[in-house]
Amino acid sequence: MTEHRPEIRRQGLGVSAGIAFGRAYLIGRDTLKAPRHHIEPDDVDAEIARLYKAIAASDKQLAKIKEKLASENESDYHIITAHQMMLHDEHLVGAAVEYIRDEKINCEWGLRRAVDDIRSVFDSIEDPYLRERRSDVEFVFERVLRNLLGRDTGPLAPPPDAIVVAYDLSPADTAQLHKAAVAGLITDAGGKTSHTAIIARAHEIPAVVALENITESIETDDLLLIDGGSGVVIVNPSAITVAQFRDEQRRQVAVGAQLHAMRELPARTLDNADVLLLANIDSPDELEDAIEYGAMGVGLFRSEYLFMTDGALPDEERHYQTAIEVMERLGGKPATIRTFDLGSDKLTRFIEQADLDEANPALGLRSIRLCLSTLGRDLFRIQLRGLLRASAHGPLKLMFPMISGIAELRAVKIIVDEVKAELRSEGKAFDEAVKLGIMIEMPSAALTADLLARETDFFSIGTNDLIQYTMAVDRVNEYVSYLYEPLHPALIRQIEMVAVAAAAANIPVTVCGEMAGEPMIAPVLVGLGIRELSMSAVSMPEVKAAIRAMTVRGTQDLVARIRNLPTAADVRAVVTDYVFGLTVPRKPPA
Ligand code: PEP
Ligand code: MG
Repeated sequence: MTEHRPEIRRQGLGVSAGIAFGRAYLIGRDTLKAPRHHIEPDDVDAEIARLYKAIAASDKQLAKIKEKLASENESDYHIITAHQMMLHDEHLVGAAVEYIRDEKINCEWGLRRAVDDIRSVFDSIEDPYLRERRSDVEFVFERVLRNLLGRDTGPLAPPPDAIVVAYDLSPADTAQLHKAAVAGLITDAGGKTSHTAIIARAHEIPAVVALENITESIETDDLLLIDGGSGVVIVNPSAITVAQFRDEQRRQVAVGAQLHAMRELPARTLDNADVLLLANIDSPDELEDAIEYGAMGVGLFRSEYLFMTDGALPDEERHYQTAIEVMERLGGKPATIRTFDLGSDKLTRFIEQADLDEANPALGLRSIRLCLSTLGRDLFRIQLRGLLRASAHGPLKLMFPMISGIAELRAVKIIVDEVKAELRSEGKAFDEAVKLGIMIEMPSAALTADLLARETDFFSIGTNDLIQYTMAVDRVNEYVSYLYEPLHPALIRQIEMVAVAAAAANIPVTVCGEMAGEPMIAPVLVGLGIRELSMSAVSMPEVKAAIRAMTVRGTQDLVARIRNLPTAADVRAVVTDYVFGLTVPRKPPA
């Protein structure tokens, strides 16, 4: 009885995450020895004909498997096409035919020698991806051999919930296995880029490879536990081990499934209020992930990163092309590009060369102040020209950082009007009604939000700086980081003030600082009236999950309860209680 055998733990390479528990189903390779014998010269042609017949049969079988997969999985489809091509490859078939003809050997043997020649070439390759491709040649060989020997080439048929144990698996086998609903796969051979791994990941089947000789320690029907994340395999696990892994499995399945499903769902509260989730990006390259995580647009493109590469300062064309690229990748979703916010900790050569010698750079010539100064004015105009021209091509909004109050906002708008006039006179197209918004990230702006709201198209609350300037803590100084507290009453009051001013003026307001991506803080923001959150893409599923578990009314009650609490710690305690009362899937702590 397998239950009485001792627990064995083995460490392999986890290539497809997830925990699986089930009975082993061994797929052996022992029956696949190629018979070897010499043949009469008269039999050479017949032997070669046998080989071609088996190749044709193999080709047909692969075509059939492909037919079934075509609509389901493109990568499996292409891998099997590659195997079909190998079946007709001169280096394989031509070489086998030569061996049969020259050495008068049977076709199984001839094919084996041709495969061995190719394998030795692969063995000497350093690139792990290419080296692993030698197993593809082996899979092709096995299929032809099965046809030559009249062996079963039908699909593998493990019972559902089995854990398949094999020396290695062909992509065709693996692709069929996912349909059999196996619980997991483990193999002696393989690496991160082996096709077994690629396909297992694509089908989300937990898999551990590179276990060396695991096939020798396992018998069919042994109980197995595998963790495709850590690469641990346990043979005959004890009841305690099973219970531990079962808990972990339940947790992972619940969190993974719920967060994954989130991508397609709206960020809508239980009482039907929609929250717009937008992405913060530093480069257009991040957009693929952002969309994958469910971003409905870009709420903050930190364009200063264009200045922070080693090359030349960005010219008008670079600004124009980058904005166009962002819009193209967004496919019609809106993009808010912030004009460059340099200075303070974000330095570039041109600022360093100016040798400003500032005692407090965070309070110095930074951001929009730099853009309005003689040092940055020309660069600001160049950027505005590029961005305005791009606005002719899609839903682009411009946003200005670190606006201290009305005077600065007006100064910026005068420059924008001048640049627009310039473009008009040159006959260059731009969106005449392009939206111009500002970041609210200093107390002077939050406190005058009602005035600012009359002269701007939208607000975006930059809480990273708003906390810094409200609390007088340098946001990169670890000595005072204990004071850097998003839930400080001073912050909550300012956010509320800005939200109220925006609502009164009927303009949109986003929160785009890091606290927007905090699922623990989301209910406070929603309760304060915020309906747009911009964050790094990876935070989106969790924030969405939190939003979908709350009601606006509940968050308003929460805000009423925290409004008069005296310290950040008091606020955090009440908010934490509230969030733990929601049914929200949460990622495990790091
Ligand atoms: C902020 O200050 O909150 C913000 C989003 O801008 P940055 O972090 O780039 O200063
Ligand atoms: Mg900022």
